[in-house]
Amino acid sequence: MSRQKIYKLLIGTNNKGKLREIKSLLPKNIKIYSTYKFKLKSPIENGKTFEENSLIKSKYFSKKTGLICLADDSGLEIDFLDKNPGIYSARWGGRYGDFNKAIKKVYRELNKKDKNWKNKKIKARFICALSISYLNKKIVCVSEKVEGQISHNPKGKNGFGYDPIFIPNNKNKTFGEMKPSYKYKIDHRFKAFKKIRKFF
Ligand code: IMP
Repeated sequence: MSRQKIYKLLIGTNNKGKLREIKSLLPKNIKIYSTYKFKLKSPIENGKTFEENSLIKSKYFSKKTGLICLADDSGLEIDFLDKNPGIYSARWGGRYGDFNKAIKKVYRELNKKDKNWKNKKIKARFICALSISYLNKKIVCVSEKVEGQISHNPKGKNGFGYDPIFIPNNKNKTFGEMKPSYKYKIDHRFKAFKKIRKFF
């Protein structure tokens, strides 16, 4: 299985932002299926790491559909908040995945920790674990990260999730202010995808 190229693939995510980005990374000759077509809910992510949660998703969605599945587990680690939200990044948005709510929570937690946090560089990183599974079998699992800092205020309307508050190192714009086509070439997901490109 691991030496064969994959031509038919389920993208195991119910996050539209991730789906859009992963589709743009995959070669155009691949027949892509989404979880929306199968009306599948996401499994409970009870792993302790991004890798474990990524594998929970790729195995679960593959077993449900009989298709090879590529799944992503990702999130934002903020050093000043003891690496939170981390694997809980989606959960900070509440049950309806409200990203404004998640962003407000980041600023609330920073203020709780130190009223003068804006005088500090708040180091953060996005992490992405990508895995491919077929039924219960892992084909591959990799992870990558992009380092940066939290902006003083949310900026930009592009992207999804925490994009408006994350400024990657050596840039002066948040992911939310960047054109998606540009963000897709420098982020954690792209770097992780490079490691599994040989499967496609
Ligand atoms: P999960 O991997 O489905 O548990 O969700 C990861 C969460 O992390 C997403 O819902 C976003 O809030 C956040 N996240 C992951 N990758 C990105 C990104 O590229 N931009 C913005 N937020 C992201």
